[in-house]
Amino acid sequence: MPRYHIWTIGCQMNKAESERLASFLEQRGYRAAVRAESADIIVLNSCVVREHAENRVINKLHTIKPLKKLHPNLTLAVTGCLVNSNAEEMKKDFPHVDYFFKPGDFPSWLNETECSVFNMGQTLPQHPSTSVYVPIIQGCDQFCSYCIVPYRRGREKSHPLAEIVCEVRELVRRGVKEIILLGQNVDAYGHDLSENSDLAGLLGELNTVDGLVRLRFLTNHPKDMNAGLIDAVVRLDKVCEQINLPVQSGSNTLLKVMGRGYTVERYRELIAELRQKMPEVALSTDVIVGFPSESEEQFRQTEDLLADLKFDTVHVAAYSIRPGTIAARELKDDVPPEEKKRRLKVIEQLQVGIAAEINARLLGQTVEVLVESKEKGKWRGRTRSDKLVFFGDQADRLGQLVNVRVERTSPWSLQGKQH
Ligand code: SF4
Repeated sequence: MPRYHIWTIGCQMNKAESERLASFLEQRGYRAAVRAESADIIVLNSCVVREHAENRVINKLHTIKPLKKLHPNLTLAVTGCLVNSNAEEMKKDFPHVDYFFKPGDFPSWLNETECSVFNMGQTLPQHPSTSVYVPIIQGCDQFCSYCIVPYRRGREKSHPLAEIVCEVRELVRRGVKEIILLGQNVDAYGHDLSENSDLAGLLGELNTVDGLVRLRFLTNHPKDMNAGLIDAVVRLDKVCEQINLPVQSGSNTLLKVMGRGYTVERYRELIAELRQKMPEVALSTDVIVGFPSESEEQFRQTEDLLADLKFDTVHVAAYSIRPGTIAARELKDDVPPEEKKRRLKVIEQLQVGIAAEINARLLGQTVEVLVESKEKGKWRGRTRSDKLVFFGDQADRLGQLVNVRVERTSPWSLQGKQH
């Protein structure tokens, strides 16, 4: 029986695509190989959004090289954001790779005729988890000055609404309880479709799917998030009150150089509107520290903004040059690495304190948990606000909604007992 091995790093989009590729291969008689050494097909699903991720991919490509000599029939393919539009050039750099295919494209080398058309039933996981990612829009039109994604994933391309609804129905039929809609800029969903759909409309359609318990979506863009979408989250009972809204910087000067298309004032207005309409909303954001020319004062503005807005989660990254981007061409990477590291730590420490404070408010309360898995004898699930919860119970709780009384909290998770 032939075997496949898929190695994935990067965002949820990559994870979703790897899951579908695995399902497709399994339906063609392949079985998963835990170790690359015992596989007949190896696929590396790559990420180059930060230098550190790209280094890991290159390193992996080098460590896999000897396997090609040991197993001459081994097929090695690379997908994800490492793959640019010049496959010939890439082949020169990595001659041991047999195929490069663009993220989101289906690998036509597996079966030219069948795979040239997206075939939903064949790519959906046969035995999906309780919670599944569903990509709804590929690519990005924003061209933020530091970001490589639009160059690698291309322009925005939405999946037709009817196709997504059909896919979600099928996933629910296969046991899924929660759907997380994915896009680099999920707010842009539908603008390129003739059928006049948008994310609010899609959420409305999916909210009617029987058996579906929860709906989430990410990532939002502050420039494109609108009142219609916020109202849909308020109105639709299955849509969780959880929003990921990357701010990136607390300095208007830097936001302009980053090409983000909004000001700190506009961002604050959005957060205020979200909290006014949904007092229980959980908010997360992304921040870059050490962006070219970021002064101590500008960094402080970011720190102050985060201290003031108090997000549930902050994803912080130190800036790294991404060749091919506007920032790489036009800006000098002039914040020293040690200083970037220091700023990163400052934000991380600030956020640990804030998250501890937010989670501590849940102590003694009863939260509704959708159970996703069992880990070290404890059930593991999430609240509507995406808080990770662990609790003990002898009964099988997988895929169920369980009320849990919170007995202990930390910045990262909650522990409790079934109530
Ligand atoms: Fe990159 Fe900006 Fe698009 Fe996000 S919105 S994927 S940061 S270009």
